[in-house]
Amino acid sequence: MSEEQGISVKQSEDFSKWYLEAVRKGGFIDQRSPIKGFDVILPWGYAIWERIQDCFDREIKEHGVQNAYFPLVIPESLIKKEEEHFKGFKAEAFAITEAGGEKLEEKLFVRPTSETIMYHMFAMWIRSYKDLPLLINQWCNVVRFDTKGTKPFLRGREFLWQEGHTAHATREDADKWLTTVVKMYNEVYKMLAIEPLILVRPKSDTFAGADYSIVFDTLVQDGKVVQGPGSHLLGQHFSKPFDIKFLDEDGKEKYVWQTSWGITTRQIGILIAHHGDDKGAVLPPEVAPVQVVIVPILFKGKEADVLEKAGSVKEQLHQLGIRARLDSREHSAGFKFNEWELKGVPLRVEIGPKDIAAGEVTAVSRVGEKTKVKMTELDEIKGLLDNIQEEMATKSRKFLADSINDVHSMDQLKAAEGGFLRGNWCSSGECEASIKAESGFEIRGTLYDKEEKCFANCLWCGKPAKHVVYIAKAY
Ligand SMILES: [Zn+2]
Repeated sequence: MSEEQGISVKQSEDFSKWYLEAVRKGGFIDQRSPIKGFDVILPWGYAIWERIQDCFDREIKEHGVQNAYFPLVIPESLIKKEEEHFKGFKAEAFAITEAGGEKLEEKLFVRPTSETIMYHMFAMWIRSYKDLPLLINQWCNVVRFDTKGTKPFLRGREFLWQEGHTAHATREDADKWLTTVVKMYNEVYKMLAIEPLILVRPKSDTFAGADYSIVFDTLVQDGKVVQGPGSHLLGQHFSKPFDIKFLDEDGKEKYVWQTSWGITTRQIGILIAHHGDDKGAVLPPEVAPVQVVIVPILFKGKEADVLEKAGSVKEQLHQLGIRARLDSREHSAGFKFNEWELKGVPLRVEIGPKDIAAGEVTAVSRVGEKTKVKMTELDEIKGLLDNIQEEMATKSRKFLADSINDVHSMDQLKAAEGGFLRGNWCSSGECEASIKAESGFEIRGTLYDKEEKCFANCLWCGKPAKHVVYIAKAY
């Protein structure tokens, strides 16, 4: 294997460097674009995004959500309607001040998120309780001038996402809708074979203008967490300034209750950082663009025979509904093995003269498990892929469970190496800030689906605690 082809560093030596090489050499992203933080998502990475889109788009449509598209630019006057919300984005927003060589009369912001422009329209669309709930989603890009530095997929200045925006007649309806959203994101996480920790964020880290935010936090191999999809109860914080009212059944005019929720291309980075190993990405079969790569083992004089059999195996796998690719390029088998391992393909099928003589193929999983499969029983490969998906999900669940540890004091927290630390907190913002400043770990939130009983006093002030919180170092 040449130096150039494989990853030059182990995860345990330098995770950050490992990650950069994994996404680049695996062909997920190209960072050599002329503008920092605006990366090129390569076909292999984009195909994963398409799988995520397919899964989530199917989910939202089953639940009555409709897709629409809203303008890329938002006039400053509109943004001023909801200052509190925009405050959270002001430092990150790109603004257009010129067009056609002329200075614009009004500044236009490139959407960092679309609440304001969407709700401007919602106010015109919603008249009566009969128009509710209004369930709208948009697949688009957003642009944010992130000042914390960039990291491919995990922290970029432009990313792709979906943003779902809903309006409801009552707060109960809006709350209930968010439980549906959590279920829908759970389906995506199942496909990704990732066990998330679903948390309700503390107030300080709630989405600007939201009552509460539910997030999917994911641990990656170095023990830090990355935030996945977020779902926000916006309450009436937008409906009042944007005047989104409806005539209710009781004849009274009321403001709607709203939610917003999104998943982004950051998920591709989470996937690689969560499952990857020293050889590169490890993709779960359900999301892998190619589930099975067929590598013919060629010997002089037997090439035609082997290639013909390999082609027929590919056809049969396609008929079984498996995404299979035949790699008949002129590279050596070893080169191909390494390349597909870097890309994370779940299963490699080798076919050589010996296999043909025995009437079988050799299936090797991405983590090195070998199985002989009879050519007459290729449907067994479906079972192998199902097993890989299941094993990855089990491993992820165990990783999370093993990475949650209780802490009773700041000393214990400071000594922790990573993962989630479960501690107690009085709910004061000052204590929260002090915990972060002193330990480098931040409060990520409380469990979404379970109320937990405090088992000690507040980590910082020592006064009686109100919440059991999950604390971690985050990207
Ligand atoms: Zn406290």
